[in-house]
Amino acid sequence: IADFENNCDGLKVGVLGGTFDPIHYAHLATAEFIRCKYKLDKIIFIPSGDPPHKLWNITNKYDRYNMVLLAIAKNMDFIAFNTEMEKKGKTYTVDTLRHLNKNYPGAQFFFITGADAICDIEEWKDVEENFKLATFIAATRPGISLLRAQDQIEKLERKYNANIISVYVPSLDISSTYIRDQLKRGNSVRYLIPENVEKYIYEKNLYGVGDE
Ligand code: ATP
Ligand code: MG
Repeated sequence: IADFENNCDGLKVGVLGGTFDPIHYAHLATAEFIRCKYKLDKIIFIPSGDPPHKLWNITNKYDRYNMVLLAIAKNMDFIAFNTEMEKKGKTYTVDTLRHLNKNYPGAQFFFITGADAICDIEEWKDVEENFKLATFIAATRPGISLLRAQDQIEKLERKYNANIISVYVPSLDISSTYIRDQLKRGNSVRYLIPENVEKYIYEKNLYGVGDE
């Protein structure tokens, strides 16, 4: 990170925000595919903080962040930021993008989302400003209709004068929800998440792995 902070002028930087509960190979493969395709210099993974209204029994942010660190440890082009974790209460992408633009004015940001996220982006805080702060890259995701996503993208471009690139990424039908579910049932998640992340989960008894 220090390296990035000292010379990020002129860099093209991808940003992948998420709950990462836990991070899995589709996150990593999507990020890598987009990094190569758009010749991005770095990808920043930004785990969300703990939301006040929990959708599920969300794992604490330090564990989710640690798992991201483990997953990207061997890739020099991937870094993780704890910007959202340090904030109290709900965190919003627009605040993160403001923060990044303010602190690294020389860098150009590309915000990566799966097709599911682009479809509910209008519920985000300050929708329009998000598009001013980054170029959006919407990646295909198994189970999400490409037509619907494409419709939504055109609508956003008209309505907000947004710049959204839609990109086909090789399909990996993996979600954190599926992984949590498999772990809870005592099933294997091998080859779906990095080995060191899997080890961390078992050591810390996350997702009810130790329960009878
Ligand atoms: P959950 O099931 O808990 O929602 P998730 O697998 O969707 O987990 P998130 O942390 O919600 O993971 O996703 C972070 C970002 O990664 C989102 O923009 C999401 O659309 C994208 N993403 C996640 N899984 C995939 C996938 N299999 N293919 C493409 N994009 C994905
Ligand atoms: Mg999700």
